[in-house]
Amino acid sequence: MANSEFEYVRGFEQQDAIPPSNWIVVRIDGRGFSKLCEKYNFEKPNDQRALDLMNAAATEVVRSLVDVVLAYGQSDEYSFVFHESANLFERRAAKLATTVATTFTAEYCLQWRSFFPDEELTRPYPTFDGRCVAYPKRKILKDYLAWRQADCHINNLYNTTFWNLVQRNDMSGYAAEEALKGSLAGDKNEILFSQFGINYNNEPAVWRKGTVIYRAYDDETESGPQPHSKGAINRDSKSQIEKEKKRRQKARIAVEYVDIIGDAFWDARPYILA
Ligand code: ATP
Ligand code: ATP
Ligand code: MG
Ligand code: MG
Ligand code: MG
Ligand code: MG
Repeated sequence: MANSEFEYVRGFEQQDAIPPSNWIVVRIDGRGFSKLCEKYNFEKPNDQRALDLMNAAATEVVRSLVDVVLAYGQSDEYSFVFHESANLFERRAAKLATTVATTFTAEYCLQWRSFFPDEELTRPYPTFDGRCVAYPKRKILKDYLAWRQADCHINNLYNTTFWNLVQRNDMSGYAAEEALKGSLAGDKNEILFSQFGINYNNEPAVWRKGTVIYRAYDDETESGPQPHSKGAINRDSKSQIEKEKKRRQKARIAVEYVDIIGDAFWDARPYILA
């Protein structure tokens, strides 16, 4: 049937393979989570159950896709980094983004009960969109991740201050928004400290920094950490590819709430982007 008279329609498909030697990031984001928060009574500004569920779903995505070297999540979004040598789906963008988004969505919905035993999940069920972006250099990839973590910090400082004004000062949302208009980070830190006795730096790290998940090779004893690029799929023999895949499957999956802005994180774990 391969050459039926209908086969020509395949020619209408878009070529969307990500060029070689680029780091591929798939970012997923929850659809309409502002509304979903209200529906399921998320605590504001940070519902820890919801963050734990995001992290649990992301961990399974990382586990199931061995080309993913690291993932970073905050709020209702997660970014998954595929190694520059990854060859999954011949690097086709739509296949990568849809597979990540659907795997994540399935995990999020099916694990919901474990994190929200008192909130029955009803339609419309949570869904996540996904997009693929290619970064041609490690430096730009690190800047991408720094951008997401800086976004987490800025939003969380604002939201923490906003919700304290609303919840503990009985301000309306409008009044709190007005009070914070044009304020700098220092002003918000000061409001938190002087009005609510909150030292922002003592807020939970997962709220301030988001979550970093990565394959850790620090447990390897035999030959020490090996660079990922050794597994570059097109160059290596089949048995080498299988060996590398097993190695990645065996790696510990680390979940940490740490700074990825700056060099310290990367210098301490050189194997992640090797
Ligand atoms: P879109 O469909 O365009 O993404 P959205 O409503 O999901 O719309 P986002 O910009 O993605 O908009 O914002 C996500 C919203 O969900 C934010 O308001 C954020 O504060 C909220 N949110 C996400 N996770 C949590 C959480 N764990 N606890 C409390 N609120 C959360
Ligand atoms: P890929 O990940 O590349 O899509 P695949 O194993 O899903 O790999 P497909 O070409 O999509 O390969 O083929 C789907 C397979 O699932 C076929 O073998 C098809 O016969 C089988 N299949 C799908 N639906 C049914 C069904 N309802 N009953 C029995 N077999 C099915
Ligand atoms: Mg949005
Ligand atoms: Mg969203
Ligand atoms: Mg979002
Ligand atoms: Mg199939």
